[in-house]
Amino acid sequence: MRIGFGNDIHRLATGRKLILGGVVIAEDRGAEGHSDADALTHAITDAIFGALAEGDIGKHFSDGEERWKNAESFVFLRYAVSLMKEKGYEIENVDSTVNLETPKLRPFIDQIRESLAVVLEISVDRVSVKAKTGEKVGPVGTQAAITAEAVVLMREVSR
Ligand code: MG
Repeated sequence: MRIGFGNDIHRLATGRKLILGGVVIAEDRGAEGHSDADALTHAITDAIFGALAEGDIGKHFSDGEERWKNAESFVFLRYAVSLMKEKGYEIENVDSTVNLETPKLRPFIDQIRESLAVVLEISVDRVSVKAKTGEKVGPVGTQAAITAEAVVLMREVSR
């Protein structure tokens, strides 16, 4: 077994889409970033790289590179999953939390879980996505930022 942890933060801005786990949550106020700024997907991708001791998302996809500008973050996640499979592992389960003041994520949670499960190549009951607000304090609570944390457990594929 191997375990990995990942986290992420993005500033919120008007005129940006908010995308989480590949699902569009809002059209008019979202996360700023070089890619599509999908904080949840970035946290999970980093957790996979972490479990493999393969560095972080910035090592594999530099934000100085023009080709990753506005990139769909699932490109990063798909790459991490393919690296994991190459090394002979599969995901046991994922747990994650998104910290966002508004909008409420509850109506989107199952759609986000299903979206992630497809890319992670596991059943949806192995993908947990939780949501918290920032209680009106700090960067999350004042709607300045969105953050996400994720842990991934993987096991060696038996052959
Ligand atoms: Mg990020």
